[in-house]
Amino acid sequence: MIDPILEIIKENVRQLLAELPPGVELVAAAKQQSPERVLAAVEAGIKIIGENYVQEAAAAFQFIGRRVQWSFIGHLQKNKVKKAVEIFDLIETVDSLELAEEINKRAAVAGRVMPVLIEVNSGCEPQKFGVLPDRVEELARAIAGLPHLKLRGLMTMGPFEGDPEEARPYFRLTRQLFEQLQGLSLPGTDINILSMGMTNSYQVAIEEGATRVRLGTRIFGPRQ
Ligand SMILES: *Cc1c(COP(=O)(O)O)cnc(C)c1O
Repeated sequence: MIDPILEIIKENVRQLLAELPPGVELVAAAKQQSPERVLAAVEAGIKIIGENYVQEAAAAFQFIGRRVQWSFIGHLQKNKVKKAVEIFDLIETVDSLELAEEINKRAAVAGRVMPVLIEVNSGCEPQKFGVLPDRVEELARAIAGLPHLKLRGLMTMGPFEGDPEEARPYFRLTRQLFEQLQGLSLPGTDINILSMGMTNSYQVAIEEGATRVRLGTRIFGPRQ
């Protein structure tokens, strides 16, 4: 029997693609979704899949392959970096020099240059991953010195719940950091991806300059 949600997913994707302004990339945040559901999103026009877990990504990747781009949006553990470098086109969540160096090492072995974003803890929340805003430049300079990494921009989460207006100052701050980073013109970098905004906050994120939004619930429905 065909999963009845597949048609809903496709309709959600078509609506979103019609709604988003040109130049804003749509990432389908696929955590907990079956490969069949992710494929339905791809068939409706999704070009970038966001994955939080390397194992889950490997299953979906086998099913769907390189017809789309794969973006890592979860917290990357050092022991998963080797596999991540095989699958992903972009790692959005680099938040320490140690992780950057591990990715650099594995990318060197794989003979590739790995595009990455720095994850910013824009709310300075102690429980959250990401580098604090005042450490972004330092990490960016360090990444610029790693030959098998290519820094492409910044990613932030912002608050999950509640009024999306409350996320606006954090998105604005991250955009300012992004522009400062562009202004540095660090060698070997190409700073043009600003990844921020999820289902409850993507409109605000776009108003504040996001170049890509990461949507899960809006595409696939609520997760269990
Ligand atoms: C789950 C997730 C999203 C999407 O969240 P929704 O609220 O379901 O749209 C975006 N980014 C990251 C990093 C996520 O883990």
